[in-house]
Amino acid sequence: VVEIRNISKHFGEGSTRVDALRDVSLDIHAGTVIGLRGPSGSGKSTLLNVIGCILEPNSGTMTLNGELVYAQKWLRHDLRRLRLEKIGFIFQSHNLLPFLNAWENVAIANILAGKSQAMARKRAIELLAYLGVQKRSGAMPGQLSGGEAQRIAIARALANDPRIILADEPTAALDSQRAGAVMDLLRKVAEEHRSAVIVVTHDEKIFDRFDRIFTLRDGALERTESLAA
Ligand code: ATP
Ligand code: MG
Repeated sequence: VVEIRNISKHFGEGSTRVDALRDVSLDIHAGTVIGLRGPSGSGKSTLLNVIGCILEPNSGTMTLNGELVYAQKWLRHDLRRLRLEKIGFIFQSHNLLPFLNAWENVAIANILAGKSQAMARKRAIELLAYLGVQKRSGAMPGQLSGGEAQRIAIARALANDPRIILADEPTAALDSQRAGAVMDLLRKVAEEHRSAVIVVTHDEKIFDRFDRIFTLRDGALERTESLAA
C-alpha cells in the first residue's frame, strides 16, 4: 500500500541542521504488521509523521495505494482529508479526551469527518464490541484501566477504516500479557481489514510479533530483518 522512495527530512539550517531522515526507502504491504525500532532521536517519530501526512519531507516520493501523495511537494492539497480518510494514529499515551466517555472518544473521529451522529455512534459501539470493551462504553477515561484505555484508543484509530495504522509505542505502558493482547488485536485488524500497521517500539517482548522489523540509526535505515509471520 505504501511505497516510500528516498525520503529525506531535515530540521533547521546551517549549524543547527539536524538530518532526521536520510534517503529512506521502504514498502509496506496491506495486511502486514511492521516494527520500527532504533535509538532515541534516530527518526522513528519523524518517519511515522511523514507517512501519516503530518510532516512534509524535503525530498523523495511517497505513494499510497498507487496514488502519488508526495513528490517535491505534497500533491494532495487536502492533507487533512487524506489523514481523516486513510490514516489511524495510536499514540504512546492514549490521548483520550478526558471530558468525553469511551464511545464518544471513538465517535468523534467520524463526526469530525462529517458523518452523522447516529452513524458515528453505531460504528463506535461496534468497534468497542470488536475490541472486547463494550461494557466500558459509557465510562470516562479516568475510570478506565491502562489496558482498557489502550483498546479504546485502538478503536478510535479504526473508526475511519484506515488503510494505514500508525502506532508510536502502543505497548510501552502495558505489562507483557496486555502488550501481547494489543499486538494480537493489531494483527487481527491488519488481516481482517487488509490495513498496513506500523508500530514504533523499543519493546523486545514483542519483536517476534512483526512480519518485518526496520531499524533506524541517525535517520537511515540500517538493515531489515524478515521474521516468520
Ligand atoms: P524517540 O525514541 O526519543 O522518540 P525518535 O526516533 O522518534 O526518538 P525523532 O522524534 O524522529 O526521533 O527525531 C529525530 C531527530 O530530529 C532528533 O534529533 C530530533 O531532535 C529532531 N527533531 C524532531 N522533531 C524536530 C523539530 N520539530 N524541530 C527540530 N528538530 C526536530
Ligand atoms: Mg519518537
